[in-house]
Amino acid sequence: MENKSILVIGAGAVGSAFLESSAGLFKKVGIFDGDIVTKSNLITQPFYNECDFSNPISKVAFAVKKLNSLNSVTEYTGYERYFTEKDFETMKEYDLVADFTDNVNSRKVINEGCVKEGKAAVFASLNEKEALLYFYNNSACFNCLLRNSIGHVKEGCESILSAPEKDLVSFLKENIMEFASNKITGGRIVLFNLANKRVLSSSLKQDTECEVCVKHTAKKVEDGFLQVCSSGIKFSYGKRLDLEKLRGMLSGSRLYEEYLIFSQSNKSLLVSLDGDFLFTGYTKEEAGKLITVLVSQDSK
Ligand SMILES: [Zn+2]
Repeated sequence: MENKSILVIGAGAVGSAFLESSAGLFKKVGIFDGDIVTKSNLITQPFYNECDFSNPISKVAFAVKKLNSLNSVTEYTGYERYFTEKDFETMKEYDLVADFTDNVNSRKVINEGCVKEGKAAVFASLNEKEALLYFYNNSACFNCLLRNSIGHVKEGCESILSAPEKDLVSFLKENIMEFASNKITGGRIVLFNLANKRVLSSSLKQDTECEVCVKHTAKKVEDGFLQVCSSGIKFSYGKRLDLEKLRGMLSGSRLYEEYLIFSQSNKSLLVSLDGDFLFTGYTKEEAGKLITVLVSQDSK
């Protein structure tokens, strides 16, 4: 079993199937949903089969009770409401977030929370033809994907007409468990074709113009902040630098008054005497690594 905790948002067809199949695999599971179980749910959500409809019950209350009866190793916490901005704080209590909601607006809210709180997340979408999992972990966010998608990821889990098949449920469970144990990196898109069961996978680069990333992806690196903005990646070291020394470390760089300019194929770096860095064409990881090298040398 994974010694991890997961916040599951949406306990509909896909969410409830995942909860049931992963029972006992996590240390702690939180479940968000504002719906009451109705008879019409049963066609796509057999998880709720044993529900007693003479006493209306929320999906969350039913799920917590049922999952507790299936296993005693996982601690389940229910949140009987729809996830909103007010719930960003709750994300902090979990290692990762799984979004099984059925519309793009709730996904946008969940994505913003994950980027803001720095939480790894998986976004699951399903239509009649395929299932799509998008993994976020300090990478291109779900909004980066929306900005660059050609349409098919704009759906949630809404358009399915029958309960998720066994193969699909195993696909969801296996991939999410791999992600929980860091075997799948952020920025990964995994597609499962429902007809021929083929799996396709690709990855996505951060969209430097993505408004969610620009707003929230400010990461502390040593004494400064690494920040993705529309002009590139900014880092503030917060003290004056010995540009002559840095010039020696970056072969091909040149000094221009109070700036050091370095460019290499499609990447460039501008460093100011006051300790500000501006990276263009670098990924956040590349920029972070380079800063660590340059700054550690500077303090020697
Ligand atoms: Zn983004």
